[in-house]
Amino acid sequence: MSARIIDGKAIAASIRQEMTSEVAQLKENGIVPGLAVVIIGDDPASKVYVGQKEKGCAQIGIYSEKHDLPGDTSEEELLDLIDKLNKDDKINGILVQLPLPKQIDEKRVLYAIDSAKDVDGFHPENIGKMVIGEDTFLPCTPHGIMVLLEHSGIDLKGKEAVVVGRSNIVGKPILLMLLSKSATVTICHSKTVDLNFHTARADVLIAAVGIPEMIKGDMVKDGVVVIDVGVNRLESGKLVGDVEFESVSKKASAITPVPGGVGPMTITMLLKNTIKAAKKQSLTK
Ligand code: NAP
Repeated sequence: MSARIIDGKAIAASIRQEMTSEVAQLKENGIVPGLAVVIIGDDPASKVYVGQKEKGCAQIGIYSEKHDLPGDTSEEELLDLIDKLNKDDKINGILVQLPLPKQIDEKRVLYAIDSAKDVDGFHPENIGKMVIGEDTFLPCTPHGIMVLLEHSGIDLKGKEAVVVGRSNIVGKPILLMLLSKSATVTICHSKTVDLNFHTARADVLIAAVGIPEMIKGDMVKDGVVVIDVGVNRLESGKLVGDVEFESVSKKASAITPVPGGVGPMTITMLLKNTIKAAKKQSLTK
């Protein structure tokens, strides 16, 4: 079997095209969605991600502003900026690029963002709403995975879904989202005994670990659908996922590539959440 490629780049492009028309229509009604992106320090990967987010906004007509703060910014200074952005009517969504420097408590910062402007979906109020299935801002990467599965016509009802990784930003939220679509979900992590036993049962396998190509072809069954969240830079400079594409794609029925799979969807869902925030906030003005 040779796997169908789930083309995240193409799916993201078609969603962004729809969003461009939606933003144009909102603007005709006097609503201009606005996103503030805050970056602290000189982490090269963070700079690339922030650049992609700004580009994504410009592409579909969302107003964006970047707050580029030095690496020695204090927690109080950052909290002051968030307070200003919370009160700024031009800004519907606030994103603080992680990781933060050591002197800043990540939790205090994420909790300080107005939950109505929490387009990353990391505020505990929004996480709580997700758990009980209320409408909220869903975290962007797992939300993007769900949209990829839906666009690819993959029905999750009754399927064995196995997630490798239990981070707050990917593993735990995707568990809830898969469950909400009636999959039977198993979540694995570094203490899981016999990982292969679980991966080999999966109808749908989500790998979010951060170990280059750790999922091999002999760990999966024929026909599995594989979503590779991992982004790992090898010493050679090559970008690879958590899945060994060469061997796994021979057994899978569908698989996401790295790059060009989950990555483009993450930013697309951020833009979607910013539009949603702008629409909701326009109703309360
Ligand atoms: P993370 O916070 O480092 O979590 C990694 C998870 O993998 C942990 O739950 C850990 O288990 C588990 N793990 C580690 N070694 C394992 C092993 N040998 N067997 C089974 N599980 C193991 O990572 P993350 O933030 O979720 O990110 C995961 C990957 O996705 C990274 O490569 C990251 O760059 C990528 N990512 C991509 C996007 C995108 O938009 N494309 C977005 C976010 C993340 P414990 O909990 O027991 O430690």
